[in-house]
Amino acid sequence: MAVCAAGKLTAITEKMSLSDRASSWGGPARPPSNTLTPTRESRIDVNPFTVRLKLHGDLDFFLRSGARSPGIERSLSEKTSVKDVIESFGLPHPEVDVILINARPVDFDYALTNDADIELYPVVTSSPKLKYKRLQIAGCDRFVVDGHLGKLARDLRLLGFDVAYDPRAEDRQLLGTMERENRALLTRDRRLLMHAVVKTGYCPRSQNADEQIVEVIRRFDLLGSIAPFTRCISCNASLRKVSKAEIIERLEPLTKIYYDQFQCCTGCGQIYWAGSHFSKLQKRLEKIRAYCA
Ligand SMILES: [Zn+2]
Repeated sequence: MAVCAAGKLTAITEKMSLSDRASSWGGPARPPSNTLTPTRESRIDVNPFTVRLKLHGDLDFFLRSGARSPGIERSLSEKTSVKDVIESFGLPHPEVDVILINARPVDFDYALTNDADIELYPVVTSSPKLKYKRLQIAGCDRFVVDGHLGKLARDLRLLGFDVAYDPRAEDRQLLGTMERENRALLTRDRRLLMHAVVKTGYCPRSQNADEQIVEVIRRFDLLGSIAPFTRCISCNASLRKVSKAEIIERLEPLTKIYYDQFQCCTGCGQIYWAGSHFSKLQKRLEKIRAYCA
């Protein structure tokens, strides 16, 4: 059956069983751990002390509106990792690339026991803080995408990126796929990003899909890796060129007449060609490139 919906590549779809679709999500997933649970070490009592946070870039996006002020403070009375302090403000650790404590770079497991000034920097590829130790991977082109970000998942596949996406996947499945397949997690669920197993991840700030794709390209430095129309937007497998003769029996009469070049998904068998929406998609791609540049 021919499919030619707005915003999609023109396609013919072969039926695919639910079990096939679910197969890439199989296997046991590690149960999530709660990063905000104090460790045994962190319960060691110390004299009360105060930490002050200074956020750079757009990191104040994660604070409640009332907390968006220059002087964010927290009083503590037990030894606490800087990661736990950061996340207690609602800021997931994968969003923090550089931590300075009293102007010295530290890791997430640095234990706070005294008054401290904490400065946090987001991942910015042209960051002036590059001289400091960075805690995040700047470039990653493999993703697992939260079920609520279906449009972003499709857009990433359209640009040629490898995206695991299942709208029914639960948190433990997302985390399992992320770990097992070494993917970056994309989600707007900041609690999910705070799980200790998450090494690389990103929370799109915008709720608009066009803005989200630009954010992800910038965050993971993907502009030079865009390869549009090379991956199936339905199942994520690569596309291969096929001759018209090879698939002609599956084409609608008008498609047989007007088109000569075709690609076929190596996973689900879907056929793609430069149909009536192709130029619209190309214009959209140019717009995305222009925004990112
Ligand atoms: Zn496919």
